[in-house]
Amino acid sequence: MKNVIIVRYGELSTKGKNKKDFIRLLAKNITASLKGIEDIVVRPSFDHTYIYYQDHLDEIIDILKDISGIHSFSLGYELSLDYEEIKQEITKKVLEISPHYSTFKIFVKRANKAFPYNSDFITRDLASLILKNSPLKVDVHQPSLEIKIEIRMENSYLYFQTIKGAGGYPLGVGGKVLMMLSGGIDSPVAAYLLMKRGVNIEAIHFASPPYTNSGVILKIKDLLTILTKYQPRIKLHIVRFTELQDAIYSHADESYVITLMRRMMFRLASKIAKKTHALGIASGESIGQVASQTLDSLGVINEVTNLPIIRPLITYDKEEIIKLSKRIQTYDISIRPYEDCCTIFTPKNPKTKPSIDKTKYYETLFNYQELIDKAILEEEIIYLSREED
Ligand code: ATP
Ligand code: MG
Repeated sequence: MKNVIIVRYGELSTKGKNKKDFIRLLAKNITASLKGIEDIVVRPSFDHTYIYYQDHLDEIIDILKDISGIHSFSLGYELSLDYEEIKQEITKKVLEISPHYSTFKIFVKRANKAFPYNSDFITRDLASLILKNSPLKVDVHQPSLEIKIEIRMENSYLYFQTIKGAGGYPLGVGGKVLMMLSGGIDSPVAAYLLMKRGVNIEAIHFASPPYTNSGVILKIKDLLTILTKYQPRIKLHIVRFTELQDAIYSHADESYVITLMRRMMFRLASKIAKKTHALGIASGESIGQVASQTLDSLGVINEVTNLPIIRPLITYDKEEIIKLSKRIQTYDISIRPYEDCCTIFTPKNPKTKPSIDKTKYYETLFNYQELIDKAILEEEIIYLSREED
């Protein structure tokens, strides 16, 4: 009898011919995430993925809970297809744990139609054996112990407990996007939502030293380190924004600086996305949250790029975002009091309906292209990896 964890795919099951890729990627992600634990064997198959292990179950459970693409997983044992052996082993296991329970119910699933006994027979036979050998009683409505048995083609399985997984798709299935990370509350949550859907991220942060200090960079690194729980290795691009910011402030009316800054950010992000083969740009924007996030503003901002802009939080309200950020533990880092480049000189009356003509006019007043090229040339790259436990 081998210790095994049975991993179920959930949503993947509906994916038809892509299913093979999903399963392969999920197995790869599971293997990578459990790398630090010895004696692990991951065996993917069409219906489930099986994880064999010797020890460290609690640690394994914690890791599996955060792997996207896992619908649920059951903690159990792998048995042969020899009915006498199945009976013996199951009764032994049930007796072992019986002091913790009062009632039971048996669930049998027979995927292997060649198995000589049907589910009904197995249920009755095992129930009578357990009734005879243990103090447990049958309760089909609210059993304290659920005994689940699956008879499959090559093996049979016994398990008592099923744990809910993170759901979504295996990381990497959705390609890669460049995530704009500011250090605020919203963008890390947006990054998490993307990862959960199977999208890999690279992060980009615009820094404006000396207006912003190194505390912001530390904050970004700490946020990404938390996110390595969902994506084991994350590439961070740090792009200097100071000169562009200064140029904008010295040439444009104050009410337009946010619009202009955001357009520059998206221009920079597009260039880096193309260089790094990201399929889109993501941000933490949410409709109506601030002046630059009205539909009018978003339109004027989007105009500078032809890459898809993904805004996972577009319909979320602040309360929901805060709740999620607390759950994924980015909140406490996000609220550390460091300034980011957009909060330093917040204009009194930012435009909620910027005119595209005025915006473009301000952009003719200085050579932003040169500043963009220079900023990209000087970008700094850092890799964040999951802290090895
Ligand atoms: P957040 O809480 O993520 O900072 P916010 O509500 O403060 O968002 P803005 O400051 O308007 O909103 O920024 C909107 C989005 O633009 C952010 O979610 C982020 O994706 C991106 N962004 C803003 N500032 C920066 C920056 N300095 N570097 C990288 N991305 C940024
Ligand atoms: Mg912000």
